[in-house]
Amino acid sequence: MFEEIKDEIIKYGKIAGDRNLTPGISGNISVRCGDKIVITSSGSANSFLTRDDMCVIDFDGNLIDGTRKASSEKFVHIEFYKKRSDICAICHFHSPYLTSFASSGISISEKVLPEIVFMFDEIPLASYAIPGSKLLAQETAKYFDKYSVVLMQNHGAIAGGKDLKEAYLNIELCETYAQTLLLSKILGGAKMLSEEQVKEIYSLKN
Ligand SMILES: [Zn+2]
Repeated sequence: MFEEIKDEIIKYGKIAGDRNLTPGISGNISVRCGDKIVITSSGSANSFLTRDDMCVIDFDGNLIDGTRKASSEKFVHIEFYKKRSDICAICHFHSPYLTSFASSGISISEKVLPEIVFMFDEIPLASYAIPGSKLLAQETAKYFDKYSVVLMQNHGAIAGGKDLKEAYLNIELCETYAQTLLLSKILGGAKMLSEEQVKEIYSLKN
């Protein structure tokens, strides 16, 4: 069931692992397929996935196919898909730079790089709730209406996209942005874009 999608998840899991975006057994990946979701299983390492590590669930979180238990973060994925019909794939990673901001309780709202302002506006921070809980899904989902990448306090980050490539590239780009912001602090702090410059960027969207 959904073998091609499983292979795509394996491919992007490996890329994410090679780029140190998904250490150890942390994080999870999913793809929406109609009224089902293919999601990595609990305890699987995204860098070393096999088809057996994949589960098919419905939008209530019930296991439809697979021999393993679905990721405990399935509820966050389900809420993201329910809120956004345009989102068809999700990467949730504990990537080091985004997780540093999330661990410090700092949202990424500074307007520094035009590309990031244009694509994401900002990267908000969802309140902490214990991993795997429905409360975590509720808290994080508050931001899904407006944002495609969200930090999860004391936890990590989650990104959606129209397909898995886009979801992966969104989190990769934001991870590098978080790294850039941290390095800029060593160099004396990033120069903020002016209000006018930000307005000019927003005008490109119309
Ligand atoms: Zn997590």
